[in-house]
Amino acid sequence: MHQTRVLGVRVDCVDMPSALERIEQLVDDGGPHLVATVNPEFVMRARKDPDFARVLESADLCLPDGVGVVWAARRQGCDMRHPVAGVDLVQPLAAMCARRGWRLFLLGAAPGDANEGLEVNAHSGAPDPSHDVETLHRIHDHHPDVILVAYGAPAQEFWIDRLKNRLGVSVAIGVGGAFDYLTGRVPRAPVWMRRARMEWLARLVRQPWRVRRMAVLPAYAIKVLRSPK
Ligand code: UDP
Repeated sequence: MHQTRVLGVRVDCVDMPSALERIEQLVDDGGPHLVATVNPEFVMRARKDPDFARVLESADLCLPDGVGVVWAARRQGCDMRHPVAGVDLVQPLAAMCARRGWRLFLLGAAPGDANEGLEVNAHSGAPDPSHDVETLHRIHDHHPDVILVAYGAPAQEFWIDRLKNRLGVSVAIGVGGAFDYLTGRVPRAPVWMRRARMEWLARLVRQPWRVRRMAVLPAYAIKVLRSPK
């Protein structure tokens, strides 16, 4: 599988079908495997947080999450057109689990009802170690093959890294705010905005507190433009 580095952080050059194919293979291989959804905030954080950089480096698949990463990866010769965002991954991944008879566990922000035909279980929990015993108990009860962890970055990646050998799952994926969109708690940007690659703007308007996190984006763009192709 072709991959590149965006300001030092690995990004796999995949689209949705090849990402799903790779995840299917990772589940077949048995785990634990970490799948990260790399966006510009991840990249900027990894540059100043060696521990986060180490966790991303240990990931088995680094998905290009967002237009900022796709743009930078394409500059490095990656042949990809669209981001593979956590929120877009959940539905086809659930379909794949249903098809293969794999169990899916949703951890983090309260998700909605299970899809018909899909064995799914959910628990909110929290990333703090004081919740580990209860959370592991819930997970072990369900014997999932795949777990989606929605604690936001970097908490979800650190959580997976800390507990991956005790989860008993084949694949763990940090999906950020994906469940908030699935349940409709946070509406997604209209299709025209997504097509115009402006979903980030809709997120900013709906959740203005994001401005602090997005403050790294201009620095990210400048660093990418200055980095050798
Ligand atoms: N969250 C949680 N427990 C926590 C902290 C966060 O369940 O202790 C959830 C929160 O409800 C939200 C998600 O983690 O659903 C983080 O979403 P955010 O939009 O910040 O993530 P992004 O997609 O931007 O990485």
